[in-house]
Amino acid sequence: MNNHTEDHRQHSVSSPEIARRYLAFFRARDHLQIAGTPLAGTESTLFVIAGMQPLLPWLRGEAPPPAPRLTTLQRCLRMDDADAVGVNGLKLSGFNMLGNWSIGDYGRREAIDFARELLSEIGVDRSAMWVTVFGGDSVSHLPPDDETIQQWRRAGHPEQRIVRLGSDDNLWTMNSPGPCGPCTEMFIDRGEAFGCGQSTCRPGCSCERFLEFWNLVFIEYEWQRDGSFTPLPLRSVDTGMGLERIAAVLQETPTLFETDLYAGAQQRLAELAPGGGDSPQQQRARRVIVDAVRSALYIGLAGVVPRSDGRGSVMRRLIRRAARQGRILGLDQPFLGELVAPLVERAEDLFSPDEQRLAPQVAGLLTHEERRFARVLTTGLRLLDRVQPESGGLVSGEQLFLLHAERGFPADLAAEVLAERGIAVDWPGYLAAMERHHAISRVSVRHATDVTE
Ligand SMILES: [Zn+2]
Repeated sequence: MNNHTEDHRQHSVSSPEIARRYLAFFRARDHLQIAGTPLAGTESTLFVIAGMQPLLPWLRGEAPPPAPRLTTLQRCLRMDDADAVGVNGLKLSGFNMLGNWSIGDYGRREAIDFARELLSEIGVDRSAMWVTVFGGDSVSHLPPDDETIQQWRRAGHPEQRIVRLGSDDNLWTMNSPGPCGPCTEMFIDRGEAFGCGQSTCRPGCSCERFLEFWNLVFIEYEWQRDGSFTPLPLRSVDTGMGLERIAAVLQETPTLFETDLYAGAQQRLAELAPGGGDSPQQQRARRVIVDAVRSALYIGLAGVVPRSDGRGSVMRRLIRRAARQGRILGLDQPFLGELVAPLVERAEDLFSPDEQRLAPQVAGLLTHEERRFARVLTTGLRLLDRVQPESGGLVSGEQLFLLHAERGFPADLAAEVLAERGIAVDWPGYLAAMERHHAISRVSVRHATDVTE
């Protein structure tokens, strides 16, 4: 097997090792390690979207936690940002969050000291580290988080690498009313080569120079429905370190997709599509594929199968998206299942023995779904090739609607294909067509369902 691309990583710490050391560090400091919640185990959202989600009742003081100090590794899945995967080398749909928590126990001082100590233990270059803190603003009417600034100074972090930002960046919420609080985020400056070149470039910039890898949130408020912030009975600390991100920092990879977590799958993909090319579109295709397969694997390991609704529809969407990206690399036979084993093998310690046994079955589900979608994909892509925008510059919603109703080709996937040609869709027209064809489409969809379900 060809290993030359991994030479420079042979002496760097592996992702499972990072996770092991993180959890051991906090266990040694009186944190109880709890098992991650199943990805599909929540009531309010389809999937766990943040490491702290399972802790909400404890943070609110509604139920006693099993211990005041906790640590865990939690799988998360977020589809809201899925379109950005691959365009940006730092975005993923599925990821692993390491976390340590104080439920009404320690505060800013200890949280920052623990972070600095752990980072030097695992070998993060602190001279390249920046932090952001909440600078207060008129949106939230909350004051600046001076205490956190003081604690970073006390711990020896240089003043010129402390950046004060507003509530968009440094007031952590769940995007809806609930427990929240100011946060402080840690970044590594990866150098100008990754930057946008603007004089204003610093943590918080949208370019890839400053890589955020750990967020410490000081949960102190309940964000009420009327927009006000009231103090919570307990002051807690909720932290989240993205395993894929800290791996990229320590393994010094240009994007998350060159870390050890994806290396095996990338290598297998290169073997399957040796002439895949290196254009930006082809590079993006590889990233989307390995991300989607891993997320689909995570969903499958939670006992979900591809379906037309609920969690299964997310799995189906990921598989179809990856299958279509495969066509960009010249792959027109099912291949997604082939990537499952390398994803598991390179990160064995991150999968339970049960999950390792189950993984081949999930690979089978992927292949099955990919196979039954293959003909729809081929026909749909051929039809989409001929689609041209109308005078307004948009593709008619009617056309897209018919492609779905008559051919079973998903509209979101069609829109994605068209977007790559710089063509947008008339979505209001799509909805209007859907209503117009309501009676007919009930029959047509049932027909399409025969093909795709
Ligand atoms: Zn920048």
